[in-house]
Amino acid sequence: MKNFDELQISKDLIRFPSVTPIDAGAINYLSKKLKQLGFNCKILEFKDKKNPTIKNLYARLGNKQPNLCYAGHTDVVPPGHINDWTVNPFKPVVKNNYLIGRGANDMKSSIACFLSAVSDFLKSNKKINGSISFLITGDEEAQAINGTKKVVDYLIKKKEKIDFCIVGEPTNPNKLGEMIKIGRRGSLSCNLEIQGSQGHVAYPHLSKNPINSLISICKKLKEKPLDKGNKHFQPSNLEFTGIYVDNKAHNVIPAKVKTQFNIRYNNFHTATSLKKMIYSIIKSICKKNKIKFKIEFLTSGDSFLTKPGTTIQMAKKIIKKITKINTVFSTTGGTSDARFIKKIAPCLEFGLVNKTMHKVDECVSLSDLKKLTKIYNKILIEYFK
Ligand SMILES: [Zn+2]
Repeated sequence: MKNFDELQISKDLIRFPSVTPIDAGAINYLSKKLKQLGFNCKILEFKDKKNPTIKNLYARLGNKQPNLCYAGHTDVVPPGHINDWTVNPFKPVVKNNYLIGRGANDMKSSIACFLSAVSDFLKSNKKINGSISFLITGDEEAQAINGTKKVVDYLIKKKEKIDFCIVGEPTNPNKLGEMIKIGRRGSLSCNLEIQGSQGHVAYPHLSKNPINSLISICKKLKEKPLDKGNKHFQPSNLEFTGIYVDNKAHNVIPAKVKTQFNIRYNNFHTATSLKKMIYSIIKSICKKNKIKFKIEFLTSGDSFLTKPGTTIQMAKKIIKKITKINTVFSTTGGTSDARFIKKIAPCLEFGLVNKTMHKVDECVSLSDLKKLTKIYNKILIEYFK
């Protein structure tokens, strides 16, 4: 067996019960492994008053540019009911050529594949025409406050330059090779509270029913699509995710109504432009109805796009050669830490098959592990040619 065997490293990583935001030893393990390959490792602990301390790792081999970085996370989502699993989620098992365990595809095994690819690459390339680095966080699945975002700020402060970043999130819906993500939509959430006045349902003119204003707001926000999408992005969408009225009496007009909604948006918009548009709609309706409102916005990252240039096209060719599949460039799905890294480097996201991510019996096929290692290895070879 290879010294840096991807299956063995995947298993080792899955054994750390690093349920977000707990580290459980995963970052130290990786740091030790990378040191064996000659990497300069820096463990970065970040904390603030409201959130737990998070361990992150930035490791670099070489001091020349270009610097090709691999980014990933060692934290995993909770396993849910252990009894629903056919194995212990933190005791990885290989069954029918599948490795089963929490983090098998999202995304401990992807880290293992890249590590193995680097080790193979170094065997035949003692000198690199540049540097290889790892940006690993323990806080991607939860708040993502003390994770990649702060590592990126640290790298900016240290004038550390990354020329290209491969984010190893599981990007393929069904088969390895189907999808490279070259951007992501932005996400903006909103909490809205409308304050009317309570009254008897038989005398509506003597009170202000906040539900009436809410209905007008919902209608106005939903009636027209935000845009039609473009070549790289699907149309933006606003979705209401909750309406709350604390009132059980049929004959009472309630004083208050709360609602929440989220927008997934493409590069036609920014969080700032959307906030402005939403605020003005709500303000004009509430003003007309002479009713007060409170609004709170939560931004998790603007949309971004890496135009498919030489490195992305090169990756596509390699994927085609190894998987025989014509990769599509996509911007679908949720957000990822690429939304922070894009501030300092162009990103492509490519990893394993995401069919079982966050589910019970999360698994990855052993042949995919081998193929992904090969793909990452070929990317290293081509990039540093
Ligand atoms: Zn992930």
